[in-house]
Amino acid sequence: MAHIVVLGAGLGGMPAAYELKAELGSAHRITVINALDYFQFVPSNPWLAVGWREREAITMPIAPALQKKGIEFIGQPVTRIDAEGNAVELKDGSRVAYDYLVITTGPRLAFEEVPGSGPVGGFTQSICTTDHAEHALGAYQRFLEAPGPAIIGAMPGASCFGPAYEFAFIFSRDLQKRKTRHKVPITFVTAEPYIGHLGLGGVGDSKSMLESELRNHDIKWICNAKVTKVEDGKMFVTELDDMGQVKREHELPFKYSMMLPAFKGVDAVAQVEGLCNPRGFVLIDEYQRSKKYRNIYSAGVCVAIPPVEVTPVPTGAPKTGYMIESMVSAIVHNIAAELKGESVTAKGTWNAICLADMGDTGAAFVALPQIPPRNVNWFKKGKWVHLAKIAFEKYFLYKMKNGSSEPVYEKYVLKALGITRLMDHK
Ligand code: FAD
Repeated sequence: MAHIVVLGAGLGGMPAAYELKAELGSAHRITVINALDYFQFVPSNPWLAVGWREREAITMPIAPALQKKGIEFIGQPVTRIDAEGNAVELKDGSRVAYDYLVITTGPRLAFEEVPGSGPVGGFTQSICTTDHAEHALGAYQRFLEAPGPAIIGAMPGASCFGPAYEFAFIFSRDLQKRKTRHKVPITFVTAEPYIGHLGLGGVGDSKSMLESELRNHDIKWICNAKVTKVEDGKMFVTELDDMGQVKREHELPFKYSMMLPAFKGVDAVAQVEGLCNPRGFVLIDEYQRSKKYRNIYSAGVCVAIPPVEVTPVPTGAPKTGYMIESMVSAIVHNIAAELKGESVTAKGTWNAICLADMGDTGAAFVALPQIPPRNVNWFKKGKWVHLAKIAFEKYFLYKMKNGSSEPVYEKYVLKALGITRLMDHK
């Protein structure tokens, strides 16, 4: 009997555990280890940060859901991976041995790269975790008592731009509902070279559509923005030109700010000799397997994928739901194949598909392949995206609570968007 340890129970890790169980049955042992004892549905954090969701609606305890399926759970951070010794070490000092390790630890939020940023000891909010989104809600409620300028966006080195746009539009919409929008000048400050770049070199008409949306929402923007430091109520931004030369220095006053940070790999993973690139992301082959340790697989935000293109201010490529789901499915197939003594054949996709909410409408994009020129380059806006995103949230959480191993994107989202037809041409 092999022991498979899934490290990290987020959007990648939980489905990985369920899919492994469905594929391997009780012939092999599966253990999930997560730093926290609850699952958080990260895509709903922008809603939590303006009070449109309660914490309880987008989180759930992990242990009972996994136990129902016969999957073991340990709710503790892993402090070290002993890749040579095939074991992980936990915070309480104990060791868990594995035959296969699936790393799905998501990002470490690199607030330290911009002094004064971040919700702990800094002056900007974050929506990257449920705790951060709840903290951001508290700051928002205080801000509403004495509103003023707001800055929303993404720091140098960020790779996750969709949620920054989402939050800007949701924030604006919430202020409109409260009839307070007129008191809040909003500036979108982003490392992207142009609006709608999204870390992807743009997708279809994303530049003009998102510029138009920002204008329609009275949101000003600064691109090629290198935020150098943040003080209480003031953000220091060096704006670069297309050649990477300084175009303008800004000192932007603010009363509320939410800036997505750059991501790195979490320490326990980044520290493993030969496992990761310099930013701590796991180096994998086309089968999602570590290039150095053949019994370690990895999926989700923690894997290394190259930036789509060099930009004046560094940006990374986003890792979104469909990509994560396909990476997880490939891992499950490959581990099952290896356990049967067969060779690995399944590959994940690096295609980007994303639904971005805008408060009452939304935008969906599909980039196949991720690096342009593409076979499918599709960006559409409409109220249906807002509704699709709500449906996706409800279905994903239902799936996590009930231990379903069904791939959501493959079975529903692609079909709903008519993308299976588009993908026939990939
Ligand atoms: P996570 O979901 O972050 O899970 C990682 C898990 O590993 C966490 O539970 C963490 O506690 C655990 N962990 C970390 N270190 C350790 C350790 N040392 N020991 C034990 N456990 C550990 N993508 C979309 O497709 N659609 C969206 O709408 C969307 N919205 C997003 C909104 C936001 C605000 C953000 C930040 C991202 C969004 N993404 C979206 C991108 C992506 O899908 C999410 O970031 C997703 O959560 C990534 O899944 P993951 O499994 O890689 O990491």
